[in-house]
Amino acid sequence: MWIDTHCHLDAAEFDADRDAVRQAARVAGVTRCVIPAVHAAHWPQVAQLAERHGDAYALGIHPLYVPQAQQADVLALDRALTERRDDPRLVAVGEIGLDFFVPELCTPPMRERQWFFYTAQLKLAQKHGLPVILHVRRSADLLLKGLRQCPVVSGIAHAFNGSTQQAEAFVDLGFVLGFGGTLTYERSLQLRRLASEVPLSALVLETDAPDIPPQWLYQTAEQRALGVPQGRNSPAELPRIAQVLAGLRGLSLADLAAATRANAQRALPQLAAA
Ligand SMILES: [Zn+2]
Repeated sequence: MWIDTHCHLDAAEFDADRDAVRQAARVAGVTRCVIPAVHAAHWPQVAQLAERHGDAYALGIHPLYVPQAQQADVLALDRALTERRDDPRLVAVGEIGLDFFVPELCTPPMRERQWFFYTAQLKLAQKHGLPVILHVRRSADLLLKGLRQCPVVSGIAHAFNGSTQQAEAFVDLGFVLGFGGTLTYERSLQLRRLASEVPLSALVLETDAPDIPPQWLYQTAEQRALGVPQGRNSPAELPRIAQVLAGLRGLSLADLAAATRANAQRALPQLAAA
């Protein structure tokens, strides 16, 4: 019934119980997860996980891994995309993008380095006819500039948290916007407004697990100091996140499920084929 369009099932947080996590999500109604890669060493693993669980995957270099990435990784990505061209589970290049939130990534040389890996991977997406999964953090305008210089077929602006104008610009370029745990917080006023105002055709759902715990899993600093562990986000949370979004938009869960599923399949066409 549900597609989690962004789930890091390969993350170390799931090492102890990965299969059980995926099974729990299936029981909760999450039929498909999209597993984006964060760096070259994980490309084989995300492909294997997708195969094992009937899911989908993307290959790319995440901006947070740009400091360690090598130029040779771009050539390796080109080769991997070529080798896997007939794999129906490969749905995008990702996770790629720009992060101007993390201070170490904001120095001029690091901004340049991020731009190099972002645009190099956009060119590969274009060359291989693949959509992209974008990491957008204080970087929407530059990401859009890159997409205008190097258009790709479609994609997802994941964990989108920008302005209405930026949302419209992504939609104009064939993108959909990923919404997840952040909108479960009542204080996320601007994001909640955006999620209720953008066209239904622009929405996809995601958990970004194990990151971005929804409000019901979040522990405050005081609670953590008392020894209450921070809740681990997982793809099984997707239906409850969807419930919040359905409430914000005054939609039935069934209608939201149908629309977000169709949107995900439009943004990542291989999802429909696999
Ligand atoms: Zn991610």
